[in-house]
Amino acid sequence: MIAAYSSALATDSTNGVLNKVFQSWNQPFKPLRIVGNVYYVGASGVSSYLITSPEGHVLIDTGFEQTVPIIRENVKTLGFRMEDIKFILASHAHRDHTGGHALTKELTGARIVMSEADAALLASGGKDDFMDEVTVYRPARADRVVRDRERVTLGNIVLTAHLTPGHTKGCTTWTIVVDDGGQRHNVVFFGSTSVLAKLVNNSKYPEIARDYAATFRKLKALPCDVFLAPHASFFGLEEKAREVGTGKNPFVDAKAFEKYVVIAEQNFLKQLEKEQQGQ
Ligand SMILES: [Zn+2]
Repeated sequence: MIAAYSSALATDSTNGVLNKVFQSWNQPFKPLRIVGNVYYVGASGVSSYLITSPEGHVLIDTGFEQTVPIIRENVKTLGFRMEDIKFILASHAHRDHTGGHALTKELTGARIVMSEADAALLASGGKDDFMDEVTVYRPARADRVVRDRERVTLGNIVLTAHLTPGHTKGCTTWTIVVDDGGQRHNVVFFGSTSVLAKLVNNSKYPEIARDYAATFRKLKALPCDVFLAPHASFFGLEEKAREVGTGKNPFVDAKAFEKYVVIAEQNFLKQLEKEQQGQ
């Protein structure tokens, strides 16, 4: 196990070492329980979530390949075992969220579950991305492909995939209803809607603007009490982690997701308008 792990790390030469920004996202972060059986096990800036059950666990996002040792340590600290991870899911197939998929699969034997479009991107190691500047990583093969509204179940864990394309063609928002001391909460693992590519006349992704618009409609209709995202800064992880134990659960906030999506949509529309006027 350890040998495979070290040699895999050594082969992460695709883009060389992490650049300064990526490094700043990849600092160790103390793991914590967010709500019910949902835990934060990621690094300081790139999220990873562990959803636990007596039948095994689900991991959403693996960060960079260099994040995997942090995840591994965090899972152990919480008293769980990496080997009990049965499914590896993803927000979207960019290096900072699926760069560790290949290594995590090797370490756990878990099955990778992805949307069809992002399974293709993962298989290319990020190379087939539509962005001008692609960031490549160690490719991995998905073991199962999910469609919109399809469920992934493991013991009492039931996760639903919502395809929210735009940021990547197969960007996926996952939802789960968790029981937290008798209270039920709608948890949303947001896929991302940041605009990184041309919205008008994008020959590599002609339907990009239409996809984003449909994604925003879909996101606005999702019930959400606990907003979680692929980057810790999107939902204020650091601030919230400091409030844990001081009163009510800081992660339970029925307005947080809606507020985020409204601003994200405004940013998208501004960008679209700018591009349309520039023609
Ligand atoms: Zn991304």
